[in-house]
Amino acid sequence: MSRTEKLISEVDRWSAHNYHPLPVVLERGEGCWVWDVEGNRYLDMLSAYSAVNQGHRHPRIIAALNEQAGRLTLTSRAFHNDQMGAFLHQLCELVGYEKALPMNTGAEAVETAIKAVRKWGYTVKGVAPDKAEIIVCDNNFHGRTTTIVGFSSEEAYRSGFGPFTPGFKLIPYGDVDALAGAMTEHTVGFLVEPLQGEGGVVVPPEGFLKAAARLCREHGVKLMSDEIQTGLGRTGRMLCSEWEDVRADVVMLGKALGGGVYPVSACVADDEVMDVFTPGDHGSTFGGNPLAAAVGRAALDVIVDEDLPGRAAELGAWFVNELQGIDSPHVEAVRGKGLMVGVVIKESSGTARPFCEKLMERRILAKETHRQVVRFAPPLVITREILEEALESIREVLLG
Ligand SMILES: *Cc1c(COP(=O)(O)O)cnc(C)c1O
Repeated sequence: MSRTEKLISEVDRWSAHNYHPLPVVLERGEGCWVWDVEGNRYLDMLSAYSAVNQGHRHPRIIAALNEQAGRLTLTSRAFHNDQMGAFLHQLCELVGYEKALPMNTGAEAVETAIKAVRKWGYTVKGVAPDKAEIIVCDNNFHGRTTTIVGFSSEEAYRSGFGPFTPGFKLIPYGDVDALAGAMTEHTVGFLVEPLQGEGGVVVPPEGFLKAAARLCREHGVKLMSDEIQTGLGRTGRMLCSEWEDVRADVVMLGKALGGGVYPVSACVADDEVMDVFTPGDHGSTFGGNPLAAAVGRAALDVIVDEDLPGRAAELGAWFVNELQGIDSPHVEAVRGKGLMVGVVIKESSGTARPFCEKLMERRILAKETHRQVVRFAPPLVITREILEEALESIREVLLG
């Protein structure tokens, strides 16, 4: 048995089987590269679902982690710590909002946004008790809590986990008329991904977000933009909603906010929404801890100082163009924004999984999403030279 096989069999024996990973065991990472336990080097084109936008073990982020780990890591919110304020200040100024509420995982940021908007609905908008509705989209992915999977349209995410939290309404993604039709006096929020990641890198029709923002304004409904995967540079803008000059009322961030080293998430909004929270009504033991805050600051510094949104925009446009130039009988479409790119495999050519396995043989790690889509989302610190080399292998696999 190889070392890889041994390690995988141990996982198979002791871990719940809630994932189906590619059969590679990684032990080291640097920048856009990772190494397996046999010593092979791979190009990481998943970036932990965009949590590693800054690249693996970015020196500035690791330095911040170590420095803070040597001083203070956790206080709980029962006391203040000297890092959290500066982190939230920096985050709010960067994305242009008045307040932030720090959590750990993306799902918690989404739960926070739901609670904020519901309470805003009752205390500010005047919605009747327990009637608040939030509109969501088909094919959404917002995390894995029971409330969140309850409004998923994906059977695999929901099946067996009910009963679910009421108060959510599904509309087709990108359908402005359906959104208008779904709004009632009870509607408090419209929760949307500006570009669906897990749903298969689905770009909504141009103008959708802008029209949705206008409808929300007209109906006194809060636009809640889940930028956990699309945010912090991935799509070629700091926030993906900037592509349509939309400023959502509530923004959820996570993944790259922790710089690939630590779970850090946040919900940001203006005072009108955020001031609904009072001591005791929401919280998290680890949320806003000093280690998270120090890491979060360094993660944001790297995004800004290395202009990761600019890199993603430039490299992404070129990369998509190159991919579109591959005349493969298996490819139905290439789509995406910035360095969040999906190659859609034709149903007649099978699923995306075997393509990902062949890429792995050529030392490129990409993961299928939604059966038919190979997602390419490398760390944003990747260079054009490295992408060019990867394209040769991608061409071979797509043409083979
Ligand atoms: C990953 C993701 C989440 C959930 O984040 P976790 O940290 O896994 O809880 C929520 N929304 C979107 C759009 C995501 O991509």
